[in-house]
Amino acid sequence: MHKAYRYRIYPTTEQKLFLDRHYGCCRFVYNHFLALRKEKWKNEQASLSGFDCKKMLPELKRQHPWLAEVNSQSLQAAVLTLESAYRRFFKGLGQYPQPHKKHSRQAFSVTQNFILTNGTLRIPKLKTPIRVKQHRPLGGHPKNLTIIRESSGKYYASVVCECVPAHLPISDSTVGVDLGLRDLAVLSTGEKLEHPKWLRKAEKRLSKAQRRLSRKQKGSANRQKVRIQVARLHERIKNQRQDFLHKLSHRLIIENQEVSIERLRVRNMVKNRHLAKSISDSGWSELARQFHYKAEWYGRTVKVIDTFAPSSKTCSMCGYVHKGLKLSQRVWQCPSCLVVHDRDHNAAVNIDIIGQGMPEVTPAERRAAAVSVFSIKQVRSKKHQVGAKKQEALASQ
Ligand SMILES: [Zn+2]
Repeated sequence: MHKAYRYRIYPTTEQKLFLDRHYGCCRFVYNHFLALRKEKWKNEQASLSGFDCKKMLPELKRQHPWLAEVNSQSLQAAVLTLESAYRRFFKGLGQYPQPHKKHSRQAFSVTQNFILTNGTLRIPKLKTPIRVKQHRPLGGHPKNLTIIRESSGKYYASVVCECVPAHLPISDSTVGVDLGLRDLAVLSTGEKLEHPKWLRKAEKRLSKAQRRLSRKQKGSANRQKVRIQVARLHERIKNQRQDFLHKLSHRLIIENQEVSIERLRVRNMVKNRHLAKSISDSGWSELARQFHYKAEWYGRTVKVIDTFAPSSKTCSMCGYVHKGLKLSQRVWQCPSCLVVHDRDHNAAVNIDIIGQGMPEVTPAERRAAAVSVFSIKQVRSKKHQVGAKKQEALASQ
């Protein structure tokens, strides 16, 4: 199983120049092939595979000799990054690939010959080692390295390792999680986790900084300074959110053999303007992602319930379906067995009950399901920029 370790790195000014040259070249390669693939489709309705692009790389390097100054593995990896962005799009998991921009987050990969030891990182073509804050040891054999520059200007190294999963002894407890806006999560145990509104709190400062940014002249040194301030604020909010979600997902996975959640149509819900801010703030889909990979890691199960199961309208005691229940009714009494329910707690108990009755889905089956969703999309997406031919080829893989 693969696990990623992320460390903060502290390159010197000279090393930064070296890294920045890699970002520039990899961005150039990525954007070049993205444009080429788009054009090919527009003019000939034919698609260009990642393999085709990789074969064209030596010719591109002859045309632009400065590309030879950087690690050639990293350029190849940039072609593969574009390929996987296309695959994600074809599977309905992401947007159509966009050109990489100079001031947003930058990344390049090193697939071989890097050494991370005793707080230093050595990479090909760079003569001096980069200082690393290695806050925890690697848990396995390193396979791949990505060097990241966040838009805040901080540098990180992310190392993917081949690790042996750490399965825990089987536990008897299960939990259902109802994700909401009023409370971020209500558990079937009755525990309510209040929605920590980091974004709202930081918003005032953020909008002030953003206004300052908009007044600065494009391309000026001052604008650059304020841009970094804004990026740092965003980064801080992101870190706080990740910290909160990791603690929550870790605890629930450790304590329970089965965690059941609802399948949320986050993308559709964000279209609702009034809900958009709270939903993006709560990081629901990130939480689901963490549940899945941590469950795989610790030998636990995550069950995803379809949203059309009436989890909030069914009485968790007797199974009576209260059709007339309104969204505004936070507390209700079951007309059949007279038990008084807290709306969200009752939903969480139902999610737990439905989850326990569901067959276990392995990660491989989940990935296969993502492909079948994509084949339904395939029928509908005639107007998309991508070809049906290409999609068929991918679906059959
Ligand atoms: Zn009842």
